[in-house]
Amino acid sequence: MTAPSPLEIVELIRSLPLRPAKFMEVCGTHTVAIFRAGIRNTLLAERAIEMVSGPGCPVCVTAAAEIDYAAQLVLNDPNVILTAYGDIFRAKGHKTSLAEARAQGADVRMVLTPNENITLAEANPDRLVVFFSIGFETTQPGIAHTVLEAQRRGLKNFSVYVSHKLVAPVLCVLAQDPRLKLDGFILPGHVSSVIGEEPYKFLADERGLPGVIAGFEPMDILAALYELLIMREQGKPRIVNSYRSAVPPQGNPKALGAIDAVFEPADAHWRGIGTIPMSGHKLRPRFIAFDAHERFGLPRITNDESGFGACCCGEVLLGLQTPLQCPLFGVQCTPDNPLGACMVSSEGACANYFRYGERR
Ligand code: SF4
Repeated sequence: MTAPSPLEIVELIRSLPLRPAKFMEVCGTHTVAIFRAGIRNTLLAERAIEMVSGPGCPVCVTAAAEIDYAAQLVLNDPNVILTAYGDIFRAKGHKTSLAEARAQGADVRMVLTPNENITLAEANPDRLVVFFSIGFETTQPGIAHTVLEAQRRGLKNFSVYVSHKLVAPVLCVLAQDPRLKLDGFILPGHVSSVIGEEPYKFLADERGLPGVIAGFEPMDILAALYELLIMREQGKPRIVNSYRSAVPPQGNPKALGAIDAVFEPADAHWRGIGTIPMSGHKLRPRFIAFDAHERFGLPRITNDESGFGACCCGEVLLGLQTPLQCPLFGVQCTPDNPLGACMVSSEGACANYFRYGERR
């Protein structure tokens, strides 16, 4: 039997009873894919389906105070080389961004992969290389391997400023939020390729919410929407893995093993959302020599809600508002002059609303 074409799936969706629905895509790459598919103002509007973007963009959820601490670390100590992925450079802390710190003369460098830090540390034995490590489960195995390799090589001048996020704990918060009234989730494909299906089961079993692990082609998005609508119609919520080509049900045991060997769960602060218990990482005690928190006495962030002015990234990240409801959207805040993290990252909801021409 051949798989249905995109047009056939559209017709299948149209054949279902017209009932308003509100779904959340949790992954920033899905946010981009949904805009690219061009279905937001067409099929979704026609079927009264509201898609809200969740807190799946790593840059968007990084606490502003952590950006400040990273910037201050390298501004205050000329011996430090701070490295990070490029997306975070323009995200503002309360005081500054990494890009502004670099403009002031701080040695801030972009890396594409975490193991570049090993080469950098070995090439600069008299400097201290600090990697500002943000992101979800997708990138965490690479960081874990880098720490293991640094330990194997006996590197003394490399540490990691860990600001990791875990998907399942924030889904738990979203599923319980009475303001959101979600009908289900499109679950992240990349993260799921690491963690598998199991961590999502509580959504269906305990919260009665369906979820579909989906790929990133328009066809994948349409198929996921159809699955969600069918499950809601039937009143039988489940977690469906529609991305089996990349997501084994049990995830990636090697990647999970590397993460578990190096990191342990810890409370984490999410920009605009607050501190969520056990939603992040810290290095295990045997890797304390690589922990920038310990080496530089950096505090762990537990309260960071002030100082964003009229930027409502928090509400956008929670799906409580669309970027169009922000008074700064497209006026004071644009991709060229981003005021909040959601406008900085290519995966941020505000940036995508702007790029794909959504207007009030
Ligand atoms: Fe914040 Fe800009 Fe988005 Fe408004 S448009 S919520 S200021 S990032």
